Amino acid sequence: MKEKIKILLIEDDEDDYILTKDTFSDIPGKSYELDWVSNYQDGLEAILKNDYNLYLLDYRLGKETGLQIIKQMSFRENTAPLILLTGQDDRELAFEAMEAGAADFLIKTDLKPDLLDRSIRYAIQRHETINKLRKKEEELQELNANLEQLVLDRTNELNIAHEGLKKSLEIERKMGELKSRFVSMASHEFKTPLTSILSSASLLERYTESSEQEKRFKHVVRIKSSVQNLTNILNDFLSLEKIESGTINSAPEQFTINEFIFTLLDELTPLLSNNQIVKFYHKGEITIKLDKHLLKNILINLLSNAIKYSPIGKDVSLKTICTKENLKIEVTDQGIGIPDEDKQHMFERFFRAANASNIQGTGLGLTIVKRYVEMMGGEIGFKSTLNVGTTFKVVLPILVS
Ligand code: ATP
Ligand code: MG
Repeated sequence: MKEKIKILLIEDDEDDYILTKDTFSDIPGKSYELDWVSNYQDGLEAILKNDYNLYLLDYRLGKETGLQIIKQMSFRENTAPLILLTGQDDRELAFEAMEAGAADFLIKTDLKPDLLDRSIRYAIQRHETINKLRKKEEELQELNANLEQLVLDRTNELNIAHEGLKKSLEIERKMGELKSRFVSMASHEFKTPLTSILSSASLLERYTESSEQEKRFKHVVRIKSSVQNLTNILNDFLSLEKIESGTINSAPEQFTINEFIFTLLDELTPLLSNNQIVKFYHKGEITIKLDKHLLKNILINLLSNAIKYSPIGKDVSLKTICTKENLKIEVTDQGIGIPDEDKQHMFERFFRAANASNIQGTGLGLTIVKRYVEMMGGEIGFKSTLNVGTTFKVVLPILVS
């Protein structure tokens, strides 16, 4: 059997209730179940409880009116349909009720079973249709919100991809710039060692006598040192290229510092002039954990600068102080110093101070040193007085695991 439609009549006159009940019982099919409350307050509460499929409200309810209830309910979503009943045909009242959200307006004296039945069924059907539409609208709104979120997410993703692209284009641009500057620098810097190799080689050809062994030896040394020079320039460039393209990383490993430095100083001996020495002082921990390759490069660059920018015979000192937290490095020379106006450019690519023009160099060493120091999470600085000397200081944090 089909479920019955539950209806509540809010009516202060019991006679009218009985009449209405009779009308209901004359509706064929007996598909309604009618309850009754007799005052405004009970009616209001019953509507708020949502227990019925439809409410019939009498216009007169003691001091209050059914219209008041309808007006109060007009702000509430999803109230079951409300039909207003009145004693007389009052068009004004009908309009007011419909405007306030009444589902229909019926005159008691005209209340016939078929009219009542049709009015109730239409009201319920409309109510259901509206509910369905409301649900659809909510779904649509949710869909919209989802769509908006999706668009936002995609935009974000695109932005991120765009950033990445911009970054790699920036790297590309930097590399291009670096390469073209290197070509112009190399075409200049390579000339001297290449000329010297060529002249030494052609002289070697001529020294055929065994008595000329010493001259031959001199030229072989010159060729070797020129080749070394070219190799150094190329190595510097390759290091810089690796830094710029981001293919180099700090990879710390454990080792003992003094052994490491002694081997490194051995490698530097050929650079020293007569009587020139590198004095090495160490204080603190012996075992450290740092990237050996990067550290070696930093030290070789700073020490070879100190050596080559010093007059013949002026000693260079290397101090290392090692704690559990960091390694401090100080390289001091008594050399030509750095002019004040050049100090601010010291770590720029290809920069060379005005007083260094007749000493071989490409201006890449300190750029590489600074980048390596940063890569290791450290800091670099220097102090210099023209014609007195220069001290470079580096602090590298030791991240012991
Ligand atoms: P290279 O790429 O071969 O190292 P470079 O020595 O000229 O060439 P950097 O090491 O970057 O390049 O140094 C840049 C400039 O800083 C040098 O050209 C020099 O003018 C100045 N400089 C660096 N170290 C010293 C120093 N110890 N004393 C005086 N000037 C220095
Ligand atoms: Mg240098």
